Amino acid sequence: MANQTKVLADSVIQEFRTKLRGQVIARDDPGYDSARKVYNGMIDRRPALIARCVDAADVAAAVNLGRDQGLTLAVRGGGHSGPGFGVYDDGLVIDLSPMKGIHVDPARGTVRVQGGCVWGDVDHATHPFGMAVPSGFVSTTGVGGLTLGGGIGYLARKYGLTIDNLLSVDMTLADGRYVTASAEENEDLFWAVRGGGGNFGIVTSFQFKLSPVSMVYGGPIFWPMSSAAKVLRAWRDLILKAPEDLNGWFGFVTVPPVPMFPTEHHLKKMCAVTWCYTGDMQKAEQVFTPIRQIATPAMDFAGPIPWPALQSLFDALYPPGLQWYWTADFFEELSDKAVDLHVKYGAQLPTPHSTMHLYPINGAAHRVGRTDTPWSYRNANFSEVIVSVDPDPANNERMIQWAKDYWTALHPFSTGGAYVNMIMDEGQDRVVAAYRENYTRLAQIKAKYDPRNLFHLNQNIKPSR
Ligand SMILES: Cc1cc2nc3c(=O)[nH]c(=O)nc-3n(C[C@H](O)[C@H](O)[C@H](O)COP(=O)(O)OP(=O)(O)OC[C@H]3O[C@@H](n4cnc5c(N)ncnc54)[C@H](O)[C@@H]3O)c2cc1C
Repeated sequence: MANQTKVLADSVIQEFRTKLRGQVIARDDPGYDSARKVYNGMIDRRPALIARCVDAADVAAAVNLGRDQGLTLAVRGGGHSGPGFGVYDDGLVIDLSPMKGIHVDPARGTVRVQGGCVWGDVDHATHPFGMAVPSGFVSTTGVGGLTLGGGIGYLARKYGLTIDNLLSVDMTLADGRYVTASAEENEDLFWAVRGGGGNFGIVTSFQFKLSPVSMVYGGPIFWPMSSAAKVLRAWRDLILKAPEDLNGWFGFVTVPPVPMFPTEHHLKKMCAVTWCYTGDMQKAEQVFTPIRQIATPAMDFAGPIPWPALQSLFDALYPPGLQWYWTADFFEELSDKAVDLHVKYGAQLPTPHSTMHLYPINGAAHRVGRTDTPWSYRNANFSEVIVSVDPDPANNERMIQWAKDYWTALHPFSTGGAYVNMIMDEGQDRVVAAYRENYTRLAQIKAKYDPRNLFHLNQNIKPSR
C-alpha cells in the first residue's frame, strides 16, 4: 500500500466526505481491504476510493466526483460480477450495498427495490404476501447486476426473464441528472436498461411486477454419471414441451461432502436437475412420476419447499471469495452429438465446485419479441454456463483450461451469442454477439445518455458517433 501512487488529493477526499451520508473508505482507512473485495476471489484490485452510498444523493455525488476527477467508476450492487466489474485499480467504487430499502405494494402487485438489495432481501420482503419477482437461482446475487443483464431463474418459463417483469427504474445519469425510465417516460432508456447492463447510469431503485409464488415443489434430483446422456436427452425433450409451471435446470456436479448427502456419494460426479414446479401442489407428485422414471435417481430431494428456501438452497456451497471463472453460450437446440460432448466434459469436472448448468429460457421468455428489449435471443431455448470454481488459486490454470476446452467443443452448436451476465471480460466481439441487431440501438442510446462512456466498466456498449 505504501508504494502506491496517490490518485486523489487529500483535500478532494476530505471534501467528498462532507458530501456523503454513507461511508467513504480511502486506502489508509480501516476496513479498506475488506471493502475492496468482491465475490470472485480471483479479483484483487486496489481502488482509490470506495463510496458506500446510502441514497440517491450519495450516488449523484459519487458520479460527479468520479466524472470530474477522471476516475473509472466501478458500480457495485451485489458484487457477483464474474469479471469483477465492482472494483477497479485506482478507480472509484460506487458501492450501493447500504441501499436496502424495499416497499411491497400488494394491492398493485408491485415492489420497489433499492439498488443495493440482493435477491434474498426481495424474497424475504415479498414472501409473506405470497408473491415473488422472477430472479435467479441463488439468493446472494445482486438485484442490480442480474436485472440489468436480463435475469434467468426458476420462473423464466412461467413469468419470463427478470427484465420482462421490470416496470420502471430511477437512475442517476453520467451528468449527475436523476431520471425515471419506464414505458411512459424516457422510453428509450427503459428499453436499454432491460438487458443492456450498467451502461446507461446507476439505478438507485427498481420497480417490479410481482407474481403469485409461495410454496413450490422443487429441489435437486441426482442421477449417476452412467445415466447422464439419457437424463440430459430426456430433460431436453421434456423441458421444451412441459407446461410452463415446470422449470428445472440441468447440471453436472460433484456431490459435496456434507451431512445432507449419504457418505457413499460424497465427492462423486453426478448429473442433477434442480426443479421448481409452481402449479397445483395436489398434482405435483403426478408431474414428477415420469421424471423419476427417466432413470433410477441416486438421490431425490424434490418436494414441497417455500420459495425463499429453494432460492437459497445453494448459497452456502458457493460462499464469497472462491476463485471463479466462467463462460457461456445460448443454444436453440441440443443435438445428440452436443449431449455426448456435454457428458464427456461433465465427467471431467476439474474441481469439486466446478459445474456446468443448462437453464431453460423458453416459455414466457419467448413471448417477448427479439427487439422489444435488448435481449435478442428470444429464440434460444437453453442458456449454458460453464463454471470453474475452487478455493485454491493453484488450481486456476487447470480449471480455466477445462472451461475453455468445454466451451470450444460446444460453441459450434450454439446460436453464436451468450448471456452477458455469465461471461468474463471476453472482448467486444462477444458483447456485440450478445445483442445482435439490438447493439446498434443500444449504442445510439448510449451516445445520448453517456456520450463519453463514463460507465465503461461493464460488458461495454460503445457510444455511436
Ligand atoms: C453465485 C452466482 C449465481 C448467479 N446466478 C445467476 C442466476 O441464477 N441468474 C442470472 O441471471 N444470473 C446469475 N448470476 C450472474 C449475475 O446475474 C451477474 O454476476 C450479475 O452481474 C450480478 O449482479 P451483482 O449486482 O451481484 O453484481 P455486481 O458485481 O455488483 O455488479 C455487476 C455490474 O452490474 C452493474 N450494476 C450492478 N448494479 C447496478 C445498478 N444498481 N445500477 C447500474 N449498474 C449496476 C454494473 O455494471 C456492475 O459492474 C450469478 C452469479 C453468481 C456469482
